Amino acid sequence: MRAPLATLVTLGLATVWPAALAFAGAGQEAVDYVLVPPAATPSRRAAGVAHVLYLNRCAGGCEVQSGDNDPHQNRSSIIRKPAVLPAFSFGDAAWTSLVQCVRHAYALYDLSIVTEPPPANVDHVAVLVAGRPTDLGFGLGTLGVAPLSVDCSPQRNVLAFAFADSHPAENLNELCSTVVHEAGHTFGLDHALQCRDPMTYLTACGGQAFLNIESRCGEFRKDRHCRCSDVQNSHVKLTNELGPSGVLALAGTVSLADTPTWDGSVLTGQVDEPRWIRSIELWINGFRWGRLPHTALSDFLFTAPPVSNGILDIEVRSVNDLGAAAAHKLTLTKGAPCQTSATCRDPEVCQEGRCMYPAPTGPLGAVCTEPQDCASWECFDYSGAPRCSMVCSPGLERSECPAGYTCVSSKDPAPGMCWPTEELPSGGCSSAAPTSGPAWLLVLLGLLGLLAPLGSRRR
Ligand SMILES: [Zn+2]
Repeated sequence: MRAPLATLVTLGLATVWPAALAFAGAGQEAVDYVLVPPAATPSRRAAGVAHVLYLNRCAGGCEVQSGDNDPHQNRSSIIRKPAVLPAFSFGDAAWTSLVQCVRHAYALYDLSIVTEPPPANVDHVAVLVAGRPTDLGFGLGTLGVAPLSVDCSPQRNVLAFAFADSHPAENLNELCSTVVHEAGHTFGLDHALQCRDPMTYLTACGGQAFLNIESRCGEFRKDRHCRCSDVQNSHVKLTNELGPSGVLALAGTVSLADTPTWDGSVLTGQVDEPRWIRSIELWINGFRWGRLPHTALSDFLFTAPPVSNGILDIEVRSVNDLGAAAAHKLTLTKGAPCQTSATCRDPEVCQEGRCMYPAPTGPLGAVCTEPQDCASWECFDYSGAPRCSMVCSPGLERSECPAGYTCVSSKDPAPGMCWPTEELPSGGCSSAAPTSGPAWLLVLLGLLGLLAPLGSRRR
């Protein structure tokens, strides 16, 4: 049962649950994961992650045991006493929708979402989607609970719980979010203080996806270091641990408010992007005239730039956090089509009625002063002199940068840019390198987690 709406606090676009509602006197914001030790031996750690996620609707009820983890036996180390969870109560159609939603959330990663018990020899992670938190001794406000390894390594053969009956039956997105979130903990993800990522505690966030951006961690109010690094990139973490599925992310759509005229006009419109908008760009005849770096808003307004007369191939392009682009294209004519380059501005040339700038040619690593110096349209300054660069994802094990380049963190465009490794200030280490805490601290946290689970609330 959820806390009454009157107790919610609204912060900007996000409605958040005050931590004090769920956990009195803890002195810290409590979490819905229980810290557990990592796999005991190097060989078990080397076995890596299970690539099967079993969603168990507990048809006929689930007997759950406390003890060494074994999802085949519904046995978990994070519960204290045996119990029986009642069956998923929302019906077949809701279950089908829920499974589709979870599959969509993990579609980019090498993870099979199954609804039948895996064979005994198949390692997997199970999420039991049923019951109420009180069935297992957790507080009423708990939506789900999962184990999180203290070193953020992925786990195999563990159970997580999504307490279906603590969610409204009419809003399966909430339950889907909890299932996706709890499974995320088993893969080593902490809480991102980022409303559009399913690892958040914040609610009323709109569409969510494991984002390819670097977020600080935290629950409700203050940000904090993530458990195993300063920041967390959920997409990079899952790609590193699970591997890519081969499915490519789709971009959203771009729409214009009106079909514009040209002289003195502005281009206004809206981007519908289910993920995170990295930038909204205005391109005319192959030249990028405007670029709005990420904002939380999807509306855009571009003022008409001082282009030469002629045919104008206009494109408003939206790029998401994975680099997938959506575009709205239209062709207008300002004045008359050019006949010769004499009516175009230097160094433009007239091609088929269009005044065109020469295509940029600067290769990766070339010194630059403006984006149009670079074939990639990215002129980035990491340590002194700007250089032509390219967008990448810091921390990705299979680097997107060519040999001799390292992906370093950048705010614009997020999440990172390729920079010559030999010119890194720290002698070859990306600023995005994990800054893990000392081992003894992790062990201590693990012991605390085992002796006194930090809590069990999701949101
Ligand atoms: Zn959580």
